[in-house]
Amino acid sequence: MLVELTEKINKMTKEVTNKTQNAVEVVRLQSRISREKDVVESLYKKIGELYFFNCKQDENKLFTKLVKEIADANAEIQNLQDKIHHIKGIQLCAACNEVLKQDMRFCPYCGTEITEEQIEIVEAAEESMEEKNISYSSI
Ligand SMILES: [Zn+2]
Repeated sequence: MLVELTEKINKMTKEVTNKTQNAVEVVRLQSRISREKDVVESLYKKIGELYFFNCKQDENKLFTKLVKEIADANAEIQNLQDKIHHIKGIQLCAACNEVLKQDMRFCPYCGTEITEEQIEIVEAAEESMEEKNISYSSI
């Protein structure tokens, strides 16, 4: 009777231990899966970047729309960056990328003349900011 009970308890203890070990093992495996998924994700990203910068001739036109969306988003980033520069009262030299005051017409670092085109970009950013201010105040 006592031997039977002891055996039963031993069996139950073993089962609980196995279940705990299994749960720990599953968590460990799941975390490895998620690490491998991150690897795949970052490789997809690298393939995309390699394609974008090296394989512009897209004969099957599979990527035309996506490439254009990237170009549009990059243009918007540039536009927003220009607005930040305008708010800060700075501009970047197109040649050496140094930070210059907005009213500078020549870069003191490399001597490049700041072209009218760049000034127009700043003014356009300024105008569109003013438009936004109007729409905000009318809300
Ligand atoms: Zn410069």
